Amino acid sequence: MKAAFFKEHGGADKILYDDYRDPAPVAGEAVVRVRACGVNHVDMLLLDGRFPPPEGLPHVNGCEVAGTVEAVGDRVKGLEPGQRVVIFPGFSCGSCEYCLRGERTVCVRYGYLGAHRDGGYAELVKAPAANLLPLPDALSFEAAAAVPMAMLTSWHALVTQADVRPGQTVLVQAAGSGVGSSAIQIARLAGARVITTVGSDDKIELAKSLGAERVVNYRTHDFVEAAKEWTGKRGVDIVIEHIGGETFERSVLALTRLGKFVTIGSHDTHWGRLDLRHVYSKNLRVIGTNLGSILELRAILDHLVAGRLRPVIDRAFPLRDARAAVQHVLDRKNKGKVLLTP
Ligand SMILES: [Zn+2]
Repeated sequence: MKAAFFKEHGGADKILYDDYRDPAPVAGEAVVRVRACGVNHVDMLLLDGRFPPPEGLPHVNGCEVAGTVEAVGDRVKGLEPGQRVVIFPGFSCGSCEYCLRGERTVCVRYGYLGAHRDGGYAELVKAPAANLLPLPDALSFEAAAAVPMAMLTSWHALVTQADVRPGQTVLVQAAGSGVGSSAIQIARLAGARVITTVGSDDKIELAKSLGAERVVNYRTHDFVEAAKEWTGKRGVDIVIEHIGGETFERSVLALTRLGKFVTIGSHDTHWGRLDLRHVYSKNLRVIGTNLGSILELRAILDHLVAGRLRPVIDRAFPLRDARAAVQHVLDRKNKGKVLLTP
């Protein structure tokens, strides 16, 4: 098959489009023909070596995949060749202490499609059959490939971890990102009010169309001041943060007493300082979270079908132009999701 892979770490120029080993399903696995694959920020960390692929190089990125079943291994039931599916990207062992507690995202043997094994920047990809969800006819492959990482992570962060309630106020960082555009919609769906940030004025309209009440260009305005003003000096109930560094440090200051700070990524840097006085004196909760459950992904698909949530898609690039697609994201030119299609 053809795939877009890399043999050494670096920028988009390290991505090669060429022949690659065909995935063969073993017992309990399925091979999916990729019809759409999302480009994700974690792909950039894998590519540049900040998060080196655990299985080594060469490596195929791509954790968000929708497609059709191509072949199944032994002992796989309920999947037919040609069936439309979306792949839940998290792998867990099912038997460690945390899996047994029902907390599979912190499994001691946890892994991601496209990180701990080859992903969907390819014509074919292999995954455990249990990770395949039927894709409703009403949803396109492109729409489905835009949600399994970013929208699922935002859902789990807001609904499950932060327990967002109607009437609460939420600060969502980076409305133009997959996580940001999802979090705004999910907070609104839960009946909360949203203030969000953008890095350029041309993203303001998008943020408002998703339901944000207040949009702040963080390059020209202080988002902490804006959040304080918007809430009548009170501060927000929940912050959804995935940038790190100064954004992390400043975001904490936007919270009200008993507020919840949810960190779901470190797209700029893995580090961030915390003013501990704010944490203990205001009884803040700092919550780390990653991905979500396959059941939550199914709930998201239902909301997409009903039109209550929508994936924000910037554009699709052909797989052979994966290098250009990655550069487009690295240059932050995208408004929403960038996809690869055959
Ligand atoms: Zn486990």
